[in-house]
Amino acid sequence: MSASSRSASGLGEFDLIDTYFSNLGPASADVLLSVGDDCALIAPPLGKQLCLSVDTLVEGVHFPHDFPPDFIAQRALGSAVSDLAAMGAHPSHFSLALTLPRVDRLWLERFTKGLAESAQRHQISLVGGDTTSGPLTISLQVHGWVDAGMALRRDGANAGDGVYVSGWLGLAAAGLGLTVERLSLSDHALRQRCLERFCAPEARLELGSQLLGRASACIDISDGLLADARHLCEASFVSMLLDVECLPLATGMSETFGEQAVQMALSGGDDYELLFTVPEAHQDAVETLASEACRITKIGRVIDTQMTEGRPQPKVFEGERTYQVEKEGYQHFV
Ligand code: ADP
Ligand code: MG
Repeated sequence: MSASSRSASGLGEFDLIDTYFSNLGPASADVLLSVGDDCALIAPPLGKQLCLSVDTLVEGVHFPHDFPPDFIAQRALGSAVSDLAAMGAHPSHFSLALTLPRVDRLWLERFTKGLAESAQRHQISLVGGDTTSGPLTISLQVHGWVDAGMALRRDGANAGDGVYVSGWLGLAAAGLGLTVERLSLSDHALRQRCLERFCAPEARLELGSQLLGRASACIDISDGLLADARHLCEASFVSMLLDVECLPLATGMSETFGEQAVQMALSGGDDYELLFTVPEAHQDAVETLASEACRITKIGRVIDTQMTEGRPQPKVFEGERTYQVEKEGYQHFV
């Protein structure tokens, strides 16, 4: 969008930025200059390292056409901040590159309302971005701080470590079915939890920071437990034995979805829980971090790749037997 071009809404590029994107999110001591100049100015806190990550969401690819704009914003920011949580970082600020097909005030109001809510919840402020016209696309770059040398990485797991997961698995997969495929669910409490997890995910920031110095490796679950466990295994060159009977399923999931609840927990994406490994010496301390808001479940252990034909990978067991995973790229309710 050029500065001089005015849309049918009468709003030029700079008015639009001024109206919707200045002052979004909490004030932060390390942000010296925010939206409005050529660059934002940030003062890195002493002794910290910068964690940064960028994600792009394209309409029709990452979210359906006509998806509510507040949910687009909340999903975009929640999932981006989840990458900071997975590294144990403390969120600071983010930038937004927004491509809009047209200037629609109602859409922008809803989008920025969702973005502001998520920014407040995750204590991260918007410091700049870019606004262009074209097919609806949202790119977010998030920045956070972590004590130098302490970040949780994917490559630190060792044979003998316990494998843990936060929260509950499969809620977002069910939420996707409810939202996109418009399926119905008579258990209203469960329906609400599934929709919340899918539409407005909350990153596990507190847990991530509590795992610093305790977990040996960590990843957030965006593609599905097995797919992300595989990423961690490959980075650490280890394998995992996972016990299907230990998977944390929310109340009502098994009653509602039967055996599919387990498949959703194993292969459904978008839960944004943390999957992490913990050496024996820290397991008691980690288990005491569990709270009502954030369950922590031990679901298996790290083993040597020699036990899986030399290939780093997760293996799922039910008792003594190998559990048959339907498909790694699970599709909902089919
Ligand atoms: P420049 O031409 O110097 O790159 P722009 O004209 O693109 O700057 O943007 C002007 C100011 O508005 C900059 O501070 C930029 O960071 C900010 N900005 C532009 N679009 C957005 C947006 N979608 N969200 C937040 N800040 C934005
Ligand atoms: Mg400039």
